[in-house]
Amino acid sequence: MARPGNKIIQAKLVLVGDMGTGKTSLVLKFVKGQFFDNLEPTIGAAFFTQVLSLAEATVKFDIWDTAGQERYHSLAPMYYRGAAAAVVVYDISSMDTFTRAKKWVQELQRQGSQNLVMALVANKSDLDAKREVAIEEGEQFSQENGMFFTETSAKTSQNINELFFEIAKRLARAA
Ligand code: GDP
Ligand code: MG
Repeated sequence: MARPGNKIIQAKLVLVGDMGTGKTSLVLKFVKGQFFDNLEPTIGAAFFTQVLSLAEATVKFDIWDTAGQERYHSLAPMYYRGAAAAVVVYDISSMDTFTRAKKWVQELQRQGSQNLVMALVANKSDLDAKREVAIEEGEQFSQENGMFFTETSAKTSQNINELFFEIAKRLARAA
């Protein structure tokens, strides 16, 4: 609920990253509080909404998820257009997905909005036993590119709410 006199920010947020990194799972956990062990890559309405109330503002997210297009390693410019925030996701158990995430970041820097709030998300933190990407690698790349960084698990819910709250705060600050 919006508080009286509180600023309302409507923000398009896009999810980017390799297929299978957990983009749809992150959104479903955030929006519906659910997790599925076997998710069809093409499942996802591609569009969700969620509202977060902060002390300083109410942020209404329009969340755009891919429906499998990322398998071609390219997304239509329409997908990014007008986005205020982008979440770039990789899977800590796959170095390939981290390499690809760095490419997605570069693409967003070229094609995204001017003041795009970007977060780099190392998902599947519960798979630590199969880890291929050290936390420090994600942290360092994020720092170099002025992005927020966190490790999440859509499975255990680790840092999911924190991620979206941090993005909301940054959007409120920029608004
Ligand atoms: P997307 O292609 O990026 O949208 O990835 P999905 O959300 O479809 O997830 C791909 C697979 O990874 C599914 O089988 C999910 O159950 C699984 N998955 C997603 N997030 C996590 C996570 O945090 N931990 C684990 N162990 N599995 C996950
Ligand atoms: Mg998906």
